[in-house]
Amino acid sequence: MTQVLGYAAKSATTPLAPFSFQRRDPRPGDVQLDILYCGVCHSDLHVARNEWKGSIYPVVPGHEIIGKVLQVGKDVTVFKPGDIVAVGCMVDSCGTCRNCQDHLQQYCNEETIYTYNSRDKHDQTMTYGGYSTQVVVDQKFVLRVPKEFKESDYPGVAPLLCAGITTYSPLRHWNVGKGSRVAVVGLGGLGHMAVKIAHAMGAYVVLFTTSEGKVADAKRLGADEVVISKNKEEMAKQANLFDFVLNTVAASHDLDPFLGLLKRDGTMCLVGVPEVSHPSPSVGQLIFRRRQLAGSLIGGIKETQEMLEFCAKHQITADIEMIPMDKINEAYERMLKSDVKYRFVIDMASLKAK
Ligand SMILES: [Zn+2]
Ligand SMILES: [Zn+2]
Repeated sequence: MTQVLGYAAKSATTPLAPFSFQRRDPRPGDVQLDILYCGVCHSDLHVARNEWKGSIYPVVPGHEIIGKVLQVGKDVTVFKPGDIVAVGCMVDSCGTCRNCQDHLQQYCNEETIYTYNSRDKHDQTMTYGGYSTQVVVDQKFVLRVPKEFKESDYPGVAPLLCAGITTYSPLRHWNVGKGSRVAVVGLGGLGHMAVKIAHAMGAYVVLFTTSEGKVADAKRLGADEVVISKNKEEMAKQANLFDFVLNTVAASHDLDPFLGLLKRDGTMCLVGVPEVSHPSPSVGQLIFRRRQLAGSLIGGIKETQEMLEFCAKHQITADIEMIPMDKINEAYERMLKSDVKYRFVIDMASLKAK
């Protein structure tokens, strides 16, 4: 066992604080890594505060991990000490069900083991995430950070492991590419990745936001047009024009105006999970023009690797603000006010120096 330092929530109401715990010795198929950077996702805050229920304390959040391999188990052949690797939202699954066979471990019929707040299949211990100095993960859930990324890119690569794949996967699944007209709703951690990735896929991208202040930034990130969604006239001009709408807004809202953007047979995919469900969309918005409303959860491991290669090729990383570990509670408060462009990333050297 290795003694490591992390930051944990010890209850739903206490701030995150230093927490010392043990990581298992690598099993034959495991990779042990020294964590360099970890992104801060809104899910981390939801689980730390038990907002989705089911949190088992202490919770060590973090599922946007970039690290350097320290050692590997005896059966590991594809990774070696010194490699720069990544770990996202999942660390295990059954491996044999239809969905796992299809490389869609996030939809495992048995159980997806998440990077934190899940139970390890083998020893039933709780999984602890990336707000820590090290982690030990089965090689099948370890990603390779493409060589095209420079060392200075690594902090911005971390959010690709959740925000990146969560937007890449539906854009691919619904065949977004040259000639597609795509609407991205919301410009936060997910939305800013969606704009960059859809733009790189060759789509014509229109960003929908409630905030005038985000227009210039959305264009900088790759949006061809920006629409203020509160403005009914502007919205009317965009009706029936879109092949695909990627709705990244996690707050409960009226879906009808966004369904109305779709052409015949177009799809709106939801990737944000609101605490209180959205009001049901009107059936008319769906049956006229045979529109579809869908959802999507992160992406499989194979597709996550493909997303990393795609982002490396197109030089896409997240826009981030780096913080030391001990600023995490402040970062959560700022995240709640959307006061971040567009993702916090923890520099784990700040924890090791303690
Ligand atoms: Zn996440
Ligand atoms: Zn499975």
